[in-house]
Amino acid sequence: MKTIGLLGGMSWESTAEYYRIINELVSKKLGGLHSAKCLLYSFDFDEITEKQKAGKWDELGEILGEMAVKLEKAGADMILICTNTMHKVADDVQGMINVPLVSIIDATAEEIKEKGVGKAGLLGTRFTMEDNFYRDGLESHGIEAVIPERDDRVFVHNVIFGELCKGIIKKESKKRFLEIIDSLLDQGAEGIILGCTEIPLLIKQEDVEVPVFDTTYIHAKKAVELALKN
Ligand code: GLU
Repeated sequence: MKTIGLLGGMSWESTAEYYRIINELVSKKLGGLHSAKCLLYSFDFDEITEKQKAGKWDELGEILGEMAVKLEKAGADMILICTNTMHKVADDVQGMINVPLVSIIDATAEEIKEKGVGKAGLLGTRFTMEDNFYRDGLESHGIEAVIPERDDRVFVHNVIFGELCKGIIKKESKKRFLEIIDSLLDQGAEGIILGCTEIPLLIKQEDVEVPVFDTTYIHAKKAVELALKN
């Protein structure tokens, strides 16, 4: 089994999900008392969000890259950035390490294609929805992303940082998220990308009539597939 290196803590609420999913999938696949070989570096999220707000993406690339190098030295055979947003600096991180960086965007795109979805609604932080890196990444796989209107984007972003990253789950927020999802379906979305690793804490497949793409689960599953591949 290969060792999975996780850059986490962004936020720890979703990193805990990664740890659980990765171990559950390894246990299911191998049985007995098997569990995943993994290394986790967990950032102090406040230090990360301050730099995000200040637009210091080059510095963030350096910081994540330095930790990825440490995980590689400690024995990681692959690196996962456990957040969609921080894939904005994925190329910088990959440039600093010799092991593969497992992209959450590529893994999600593969699942979307498998489901035969060509146009997908994208929910995430404003960085993920508004900057080009995520939508371009999907487009390179032939997937068109549609995003909510401005007020809805602000709402989604604020719920992520003000509630979900603090472990707060509110019924009212879920209701509004479902209305926003309806507006994406009106724009022709055939599936919904939960493009923030905390959103699956709020929205589940059973809440939505079209396929939902849980990026936390998809990313963790991809890592386990690679870890167990000969
Ligand atoms: N976990 C969230 C994501 O997947 C947001 C955290 C961040 O800003 O990195 O995008």
